[in-house]
Amino acid sequence: MSALQSAKRVLKYQIIRVGLEAVALSRLGRLMPAAAGRGVVFTLHHVRPETPSRFDPNAILAVTPAFLEQAIGVALTHGLTAVHLHDLPALLADPAETRKFVAFTLDDGYRNNAEFAAPVFRKFGVPYTIFVTSGFTARIRTIWWETAAALAGNGRSFRFDFGAGAEVVTTATVAERFAAFERLARLVQSIDEDEAVRRLDRAAAAHGIDADAIVADLVMAEDELRALAADPLVHFGAHTVTHVNLKRVTAARLEEEIADSTRAVEAMVGRRPRSFSYPYGWSSAVGDREIAATASAGFAVAVTTQPGVLPLGPLERPTGLHRVSLNGYYQKPRYVEALISGIPFRLMA
Ligand SMILES: [Zn+2]
Repeated sequence: MSALQSAKRVLKYQIIRVGLEAVALSRLGRLMPAAAGRGVVFTLHHVRPETPSRFDPNAILAVTPAFLEQAIGVALTHGLTAVHLHDLPALLADPAETRKFVAFTLDDGYRNNAEFAAPVFRKFGVPYTIFVTSGFTARIRTIWWETAAALAGNGRSFRFDFGAGAEVVTTATVAERFAAFERLARLVQSIDEDEAVRRLDRAAAAHGIDADAIVADLVMAEDELRALAADPLVHFGAHTVTHVNLKRVTAARLEEEIADSTRAVEAMVGRRPRSFSYPYGWSSAVGDREIAATASAGFAVAVTTQPGVLPLGPLERPTGLHRVSLNGYYQKPRYVEALISGIPFRLMA
């Protein structure tokens, strides 16, 4: 079962990679220029040098500074103009404007964004938006997918209560570790997310893992955000307080997560966030209610992680904008070219 799951996981990424190779090789983009729309909003998370590891269930979230540089190069070579995400609605609504655009966004507020990504953006004069999870910054919420990875990769087994009492989960092999991680991830997505995070934190502590220390190690603190705010190219957007799946919380909590994180980011960096990113961003985490909530909170633009390029006309749902992920599994300039062509999203539709 676990070996099959891990084979499926690998196969899924192989299939996408083959698809990207095919699109890159076929030069379909030249035949279907309309598929490229008006450009693209890119999603990034970690930007850091590669750390080789056989068990890294979050590897998809990290790219190298060298790849970021290549991706910017490809976007600029293809004639895209780099702009701030929050400027897109006005630019795309302007009938006199014919350019195509690229906007770079980085979710969660990782320290490596300041260390490794900011210098690359500076080198090219490219603006970028960092979506801050204010509860990570304030050290009041742990990052469950990091805690889960630490727990699953910790030793040969760990004890965890999935709901039917404590059980021993075996993690002797890499396949078992991936299976354990996936089981933990499924739990977070199925029970109350706050409760799942608490349970993970407790289990981690029982195995000598400090979930708070992981956050402190990975995420910028307030003074670091303030220091980075001196960069004229950066904008800080909001990404909720607790990184909870917004579709799974009450209307009151939804409103709170949006308003409180917006206020917190403004208090930290001295500028009100002009854009918002939905945690996880996939369709089971963002729907009509959430897209309406960020609009009524005053955001001109908010982004999902559902894949797609910018539409040719004005933005119909600017608070439900699609993005294209630049992720750890596809770090090749020709894949970026394939993504910019928009063809992969036509094929998926
Ligand atoms: Zn996030």
